[in-house]
Amino acid sequence: MKFKPANNIQDLQYFGEFGGVNPSISDSSTYTFLSAKTMFDTFEGNADGCYLYSRHSSPSNLYLGEALAAMEGTETATVTASGMGAITPVLLQLCDAGDHILSSRTIYGGTYAFLKNFAPRLGIYTSFVDITDLPAIEASITKNTKVLYCESVSNPLLEVADIVALSKLAKKHNLKLVVDNTFSPLSISPIKLGADVVIHSLTKFINGSSDTVGGVVCGTQDFINQLRNVNNGAAMLLGSTMDSLRSASVLKNLRTLHIRMQQHSKNALYLAQQFEKDGLKTVYPGLSSHPSHQLFKSMMNDTYGFGGMLTIDVGTLENANALMELMQERNLGYLAVSLGFYKTLFSAPGTSTSSEIPEDEQKEMGLSDGLIRFSIGLDADIERTYEMMKNCMVELNILQPEFV
Ligand SMILES: *Cc1c(COP(=O)(O)O)cnc(C)c1O
Repeated sequence: MKFKPANNIQDLQYFGEFGGVNPSISDSSTYTFLSAKTMFDTFEGNADGCYLYSRHSSPSNLYLGEALAAMEGTETATVTASGMGAITPVLLQLCDAGDHILSSRTIYGGTYAFLKNFAPRLGIYTSFVDITDLPAIEASITKNTKVLYCESVSNPLLEVADIVALSKLAKKHNLKLVVDNTFSPLSISPIKLGADVVIHSLTKFINGSSDTVGGVVCGTQDFINQLRNVNNGAAMLLGSTMDSLRSASVLKNLRTLHIRMQQHSKNALYLAQQFEKDGLKTVYPGLSSHPSHQLFKSMMNDTYGFGGMLTIDVGTLENANALMELMQERNLGYLAVSLGFYKTLFSAPGTSTSSEIPEDEQKEMGLSDGLIRFSIGLDADIERTYEMMKNCMVELNILQPEFV
């Protein structure tokens, strides 16, 4: 049977305290108990349905977590104050000093900086690999390797991870496969393909309104319990808890994710096809020229398309900057990092979101100076947007005018 992530979200039924159609927001940091014994049991993690303290869990956070678990097909989930606030506790929960992580080299800049610069302070070392090169990955596994880490669609180069093959490798060598699915919510369901833990930055498509940061870890009940354990749980002890008011607002936005993703994908595919026709070096997993087009197709939940992210290469950083400034002036989008907004957002990854990655490594990864990353918005009239973007490129001599 096909996995239907949006149905799973929609089928949940939460009511508010007074029969409200939205669940009540839990506006409390702490909770009373009628009996001292129940308080003790809750501390020990043995009292289902009881709340202790909101850094541990709160009703509002559980509602959002359960909705995201339904989306990803996991037993449960825990929401966090940011995407990084989900990624770092997961890795620290899975690894002790002396352990080794194998990570894709094309990942979010913050994750890269954490693995490269911070985790070694705790004795956790990472090897960065080309995630599309399975033999090289297997050859890099050591007896200390605990985690295989990747993004389903990578930031910013839009490389696609073969989650089925990676999960086989992970199982063979007893590693946990942790997948950051931020770029492809609904389109790709990593758990169904064999991943052990799925992480999202909710900041991006899932919340979709660029008004907050947030994150989630989706996994087994056992793993989420470990993260929340009052004695040794990394999520509990590092304290990156989401606020209840915010989780209530993210839950409301989650309900339109399926409609938004379809529009992001439709618009991005249209622009990618036009840009490619115009002779621009365009990277979009929905293009048959993308090296992992077939792989993405084999993994995707059809309805939601190939996502809202695309990149073009306009040759030089000067071109990229001039184009982004002109597009912003014409109100075609904003020169801003992040993604998943109703407006198109664009940035030059080499000098912004991936600037944590040293220049020589950027080169080796194929991260060129003229690269512009687009998060395509929900534009109602994408044909008009395209014409206006093209005019900008012609004015800046990035594209030659056509004489018909
Ligand atoms: C933004 C992002 C993150 C970090 O999320 P924050 O909410 O900013 O902490 C992690 N992974 C990916 C792929 C992202 O795009």
